[in-house]
Amino acid sequence: MAEIGVGIIGTGFMGKAHALAYRTAASLFPLRDRPVLEIVADNDRAGAERLSQSFGFRRMTEDWHEVVSDPAVRIVSIATPNALHREMALAAIAAGKHVHCEKPLAQTEPEAREMVHAAETSGVCTQVGYNYLKNPLLALAREMIGRGELGEITGFRGIHAEDYMADPAAPFTWRLDAGGAGVLGDLGSHIIGLARFLLGPILAVIADLDTVVKERPVARGSGERRPVTVDDIARLTVRFARGAGGTIEASWVTTGRTMQLGFEISGTKGALAFTQERMNELLFYSAAELRSRRGFVRIEAGPEHPPYGLFCPAPGHQLGFNDLKTIEVADFLQAIEGRPAKGPDFREGWEIQKVVETALRSARARTWLPVPRNSNAN
Ligand code: NAD
Repeated sequence: MAEIGVGIIGTGFMGKAHALAYRTAASLFPLRDRPVLEIVADNDRAGAERLSQSFGFRRMTEDWHEVVSDPAVRIVSIATPNALHREMALAAIAAGKHVHCEKPLAQTEPEAREMVHAAETSGVCTQVGYNYLKNPLLALAREMIGRGELGEITGFRGIHAEDYMADPAAPFTWRLDAGGAGVLGDLGSHIIGLARFLLGPILAVIADLDTVVKERPVARGSGERRPVTVDDIARLTVRFARGAGGTIEASWVTTGRTMQLGFEISGTKGALAFTQERMNELLFYSAAELRSRRGFVRIEAGPEHPPYGLFCPAPGHQLGFNDLKTIEVADFLQAIEGRPAKGPDFREGWEIQKVVETALRSARARTWLPVPRNSNAN
């Protein structure tokens, strides 16, 4: 196999997940080029050293610019706080690199538009880290909806709730930076992306936002407190272009929930239900069944749901979070090799950002607002 050089920026939760996925992808998926972990950057030297050693990167640095300018690097993977995505992605694109950027693509819609414009002008391939969309069972759900197995869609109820900010003593982090949305950008973007993946564009939105914890310690245990201005909970009512309406909730203060990214979709002939907490199961209800036999049927993930079989030959043995990241990376590598791009690319990241931004404006104006339909990123 030929090699393709990868540089990763950021060595936290996602930097490690990217390193694992780039190291694994070519062992499982039919790829032309094998990713090589060339260089890792983190301004926290200890973090860069740790990931470099544990994954066997060829080089490490505290300065992310060295990743972008490294001639051996063809893919730049950005796994840093949201406020840094724009600058890093634009620099990587200007250097002719393919860019894999964590979600949300940017902090604001104009930033996302600028990134789409730069990427599409230069012709590099892009990927945004909406890994949950890579679940084989969600591809099945989309197929079932597309084939009309649910009939006409009548409603979408989506949620992404976790509890990592539920404790008022949880300190202020970059996730609370005032430059962007709060939970709406962090978790809301996942469920908005999922709603779009399954049901298509969102035309209009009305949103209500809550900041539950109004100030937080600047560091764990510190007596010094910093005001929180972004949302802890976002509640959206949406209207899809296909006609159906829906609700979307995002919260990082939902006590007891650690990964409730889920939905129920009802149609005239049936319904689907899913939660990431049980990501290897998709529930299907068919109204065509005899009334005495009706109920949600549990579809269990298995080799019949590609690419599950590349990971494991046995049904019911289950995929996990990092497997979704590996599928995302494999899809990106295949797009770079010239095969059809599966996305989500920067353009889709921009579309999600438009819904986030419209919801923020709607909450301030306390009214329904249309999601901009501009497709020209100039
Ligand atoms: P994190 O805080 O765990 O890690 C961020 C890393 O970036 C840290 O190691 C930090 O030192 C490093 N960093 C900060 N400034 C830097 C700079 N100037 N140069 C180089 N490195 C720098 O955060 P995380 O949870 O990994 O989140 C990173 C990104 O991934 C965010 O955009 C977040 O929204 C996204 N994310 C995605 C998922 C998902 O499921 N796809 C899950 C969690 C986070």
